[in-house]
Amino acid sequence: MSVSIFKNIICWHAPVAGALRVKVHRVLLRADLPFLVDVNVYLVGAGREWVLVDSGYGREGMVDIVEKEVQRIAGSVANLKGILVTHAHIDHFGGATVLKRKGCVRVMMHKVGAPMLEDFRRLAEKYFGMREEEERKYVNVFLKEICGASETRVDETLEDGSEVEVAGSVLRAVHTPGHSPCHVCFYDPDNRVLFSGDLIISERSTWIGYPSGDVGLYLDSVRRLSKLKIDVIYPAHGGVIDNPAEKIKEVIRHKEERLSEVYSLLKEKPRTIAEIAKIIYANVPWPRGRWLERAIKAYIVELEKRRRVRRVKEQPEVYEAI
Ligand SMILES: [Zn+2]
Ligand SMILES: [Zn+2]
Repeated sequence: MSVSIFKNIICWHAPVAGALRVKVHRVLLRADLPFLVDVNVYLVGAGREWVLVDSGYGREGMVDIVEKEVQRIAGSVANLKGILVTHAHIDHFGGATVLKRKGCVRVMMHKVGAPMLEDFRRLAEKYFGMREEEERKYVNVFLKEICGASETRVDETLEDGSEVEVAGSVLRAVHTPGHSPCHVCFYDPDNRVLFSGDLIISERSTWIGYPSGDVGLYLDSVRRLSKLKIDVIYPAHGGVIDNPAEKIKEVIRHKEERLSEVYSLLKEKPRTIAEIAKIIYANVPWPRGRWLERAIKAYIVELEKRRRVRRVKEQPEVYEAI
């Protein structure tokens, strides 16, 4: 293992699955701004055939690290068969265009996500419900200027069960919506390895935000993973997970507890989404108001589907327990 420090960014890498036919190298990209998150990019393959699972942000320092790691481990960007994007969130696809320019690698992702990478306004509207000024700022300032992304043509669309061969192994796309409609995990059945994207992460819980997030679908997707034979999970955020079965149970338990928490608050008295967000996320370290309200809205929608809460008549902003 070695550690190198570039400005505020630490790049950690180690062959974490040396016994496999293919090797897995984790490249940890440290967030260098307070509202970005650390993210893992995985370099998977052997010899002259490699893929990247996700690309990280498109910020210059971060893409440089990924590129250097690709050169060091895979020999050249030309040995990259493709970038397998788990879903259309900026920390996962932002570097794809820059890397593509450097070596013509193919970008692959689920068919639902492809139109989002090709038109960021569509991403802002469909996934986050943004309009007008908010949408313009998100696309032009956040995605393009700060995160260094530009719209990208997806070269190959995937669907549930699509297989990508790399150095004699197979990575199978498992469509796992809930966190994002286009989310896929990549599963290697021979080596019992899962790249879980944001569906299962190791150090926090997965954010599910209205309108593109769906708590019910998320729980279905996680339960679906519990039927696969998995020894190791490589998540997009946090360290490697070597107890997949327990982790999957813990993730389901946490989401169900959050649903109960929201329900209990509404049982106490009718409240608005903003009021619930302030109580539940009282300890969140920086103001992420609208994103947190989107998360609470997703829980409310699930509770409405389960017929446990409803809007108060003539007060459309206020919800009550049934
Ligand atoms: Zn995400
Ligand atoms: Zn993420």
